[in-house]
Amino acid sequence: MDKMTPAMRQYYEAKEKHKDALIFFRMGDFYESFGEDAKVIAKELDITLTTRGRDKEGEDMPLAGIPYHAVDSYLPRLIKKGYKVAICEQLEDPKQAKGVVKRGVIRVITPGTAIDSSLVTDQSNNYLMSVSGEGLVFGVSFLDVSTGELITTQFTDNENYDRVMSEAARMRPAECILPPALYENQKLTERLRSPCITLNKYEAEAFENKNSYENLKKHFGVMTLEGMGCEQLPCAISSAGAALMYAKTTQMRDLAHIQSIRTYFESEFMVLDSITLRNLEIVQSVRGESQGSSLLGVLDRTKTPMGGRMLRKMVLAPLISVDIITERLDAVDDIVKKTLLRYDLRSWLSGIRDIERLIGRIVYGNSNARDLLALKLSLVPIPEITKSLKENIIKPGLLSDIIRRFGDFSDIVALLERALMDDPPVSVREGGMIKDGYNEKLDELKKLSLHGKDWIAELQQQERNRTGIKSLKVGYNSVFGYYIEVTKANLPQVPSDYIRKQTTANGERFYTPALKEKEMMILSADEKKMALEFELFTEINSLIAARSKELQATAAALGELDVVATLAEVAVNNRYVRPEVNGSCSILIRDGRHPVVERSLTGFVPNDTHMDCEENQFLLITGPNMAGKSTYMRQTALIVIMAQIGSFVPASYASVGLVDRIFTRVGAFDDLASGQSTFMIEMVELANILNNATPKSLVLLDEIGRGTSTYDGYSIAKAVVEFIHSKDRVGVRSLFATHYHQLTALEGALRRMKNYHIAVKEEGNDLVFLRKIVPGATDRSYGIHVARLAGVPLKVTQRAREILKEVEDGSAIRRGKDSSRYTQLMLFGSEEAKESPVVEELKNLNVDAMTPLEALNALAALKKKANGG
Ligand code: ATP
Repeated sequence: MDKMTPAMRQYYEAKEKHKDALIFFRMGDFYESFGEDAKVIAKELDITLTTRGRDKEGEDMPLAGIPYHAVDSYLPRLIKKGYKVAICEQLEDPKQAKGVVKRGVIRVITPGTAIDSSLVTDQSNNYLMSVSGEGLVFGVSFLDVSTGELITTQFTDNENYDRVMSEAARMRPAECILPPALYENQKLTERLRSPCITLNKYEAEAFENKNSYENLKKHFGVMTLEGMGCEQLPCAISSAGAALMYAKTTQMRDLAHIQSIRTYFESEFMVLDSITLRNLEIVQSVRGESQGSSLLGVLDRTKTPMGGRMLRKMVLAPLISVDIITERLDAVDDIVKKTLLRYDLRSWLSGIRDIERLIGRIVYGNSNARDLLALKLSLVPIPEITKSLKENIIKPGLLSDIIRRFGDFSDIVALLERALMDDPPVSVREGGMIKDGYNEKLDELKKLSLHGKDWIAELQQQERNRTGIKSLKVGYNSVFGYYIEVTKANLPQVPSDYIRKQTTANGERFYTPALKEKEMMILSADEKKMALEFELFTEINSLIAARSKELQATAAALGELDVVATLAEVAVNNRYVRPEVNGSCSILIRDGRHPVVERSLTGFVPNDTHMDCEENQFLLITGPNMAGKSTYMRQTALIVIMAQIGSFVPASYASVGLVDRIFTRVGAFDDLASGQSTFMIEMVELANILNNATPKSLVLLDEIGRGTSTYDGYSIAKAVVEFIHSKDRVGVRSLFATHYHQLTALEGALRRMKNYHIAVKEEGNDLVFLRKIVPGATDRSYGIHVARLAGVPLKVTQRAREILKEVEDGSAIRRGKDSSRYTQLMLFGSEEAKESPVVEELKNLNVDAMTPLEALNALAALKKKANGG
């Protein structure tokens, strides 16, 4: 250390304090990184790695640097990859510093605590997840530093950590912090790794219940957390406290815009676990990350970022209160019926920017004048929105409640109108933000500066006239200030009062005492002007920050209005109807459609669904491959979800008896990373359903038992049907698609089960898919036909047909019975199929009337027959 330059010593001090972060060390116009950090940065950002000086061991020191003004384009690339970056700034003006410039880390940027507009670029939430645990009781919190939202919950989980995992899958945090004990739990961290991107260990003390509790109370300025709903939830408190502490220590600020905690419970929402979210393609399609072909993709026509975030949360956690759902449906209905209102609301909303994040930056202290301008433009339409809603809404309900939550910001709008230029610069230190007439002192400084500049503008002509040098120029640069430039050829004509300032390639630059005086005046006026503008900006910023609570509440209300107006717009555009939601156990849908599939097809065939808790509780659906079984089952689940978020639904009529959880087991996904086989995953998912489905749940099982041998698969499928049918004595509403056609025979035996199939028509060699669900069973899968449609070589499908025929003919010749039925019986080892002529003959032998020799001969004959002789 001793031989090191003072700057390098500062670097190592910063690194020592922030070992897990990459250090961006400010050196003049660059952020530089050294040693291992430099190697990582050079590789990740694809920039040159060089060396400078020696490191502690006397080796060449690797160095990588980026220009400070380009930090906004480089930094996000590191953060998105999960790195933490500590910004080590110059803490004093290098020009004024005596000796080495003081430096220190001013904040640590991490994926889950980002706030800058360059880092949180899309409108979706950027969550930090925090998990604490006592045995199997977990506290889970999510904090979005950019919007100020902090939510928490506590629950008991199972040994697979399914619930922690589901929360992570639903919220998709950018980063998750865990205390050391949980961080070392491999099973938990392995499961969390995929939905969380970055997992970080955080100090145990931060999660310590007492510390967390005290810190939270202090931050929110309250005596108890009762009002926030988590006073009695120690694990929730630990995780929320740690999240807040982590955000405050990395950002090195108070984060006053985080103004409360919302405690939520599983019992408030329909539970959609991570598997169901994926299978039903709620927020993204199974194939990719894209939102487009998901339910959210169809519904999200929101106009504001607040609305977009809220809608996403709603589809991930539909409601289970008939009253709240009905209130929301009423509001959507109101706007569906009022075309003009809908049009007006959506056009006003489209001018509203991300108020939540703007407030975040304003309170945090890294806003600029453009943010304030954006806030002003977002607040301007509120009175018009309020007026229009008041004129149109007759009944009290959600819409009148939304209006009540709007604050009155006319004073802020007027202030910003008076103060802010229409097109202010990005920087807050270079002036150009504040309008003339807002502040007298500023106006004077502006005049002084302008006056000086006018004088200089006239100087060029005056001096040309005075000296006769036609090419004489008056110019300015930031290092040398104002100058008079004369080319070499004209130097003899330079008057005696010119003082030499600088020599250039083509001539000389001069100044005069008068020019110097004006320059001083302009520079000092400009400097004072910029400082004053910054001061005025900060003053306005603080005035707005003081109203942040009201502004946040208004932003949330605008988000909710946006969602309601969007659901109305989508309902009209997509021909959805208002569903009825009630506490019954039936699901009745007429002409239901799949909201996503119908958009990519012309001629989508609508279908009815009739489920109740009597004889239509368990629908066993058979039908050929490709008939539309999966689509049908999913559309039923999606219509239920849409109804329970308060949306209209794709059908001509729908009545939904509340569903508390939707379970799905659909298709097969290999999860090689977790070391589980396809069949193992299928069984794990099945176990979850069988253990947790309640009489209010809806279960979708597609092709259960397909991942193992036919016998095992069939046996499992049959046992599952029986189990679900009689679970908790009353059974669970289920849609069960299968190619094990012999399961249809259970219809008579299981009272609440009903067979359905999807109809097809055979026309010569062609199979016409009718896509219509009809009562009754089917016994053919047309798999070979579908294989041919898929492009499997003709040779293979022809051979498959031959084999199928052999199997069927063999049975027909031997039994003279319906061939397909015989094939099934043969494959599934029914008693009937096992019975052979040898057995029949054996049964007919009258052993009592036989001599020992006759018996021996009969036995030899039977043995021969049994061997095929
Ligand atoms: P498999 O048994 O092979 O899994 P499946 O019976 O589950 O097939 P789906 O995957 O639901 O069949 O549907 C196959 C295709 O049929 C869908 O991709 C869609 O293009 C089309 N389809 C499904 N339902 C309908 C419908 N109601 N109207 C029009 N087309 C439909």
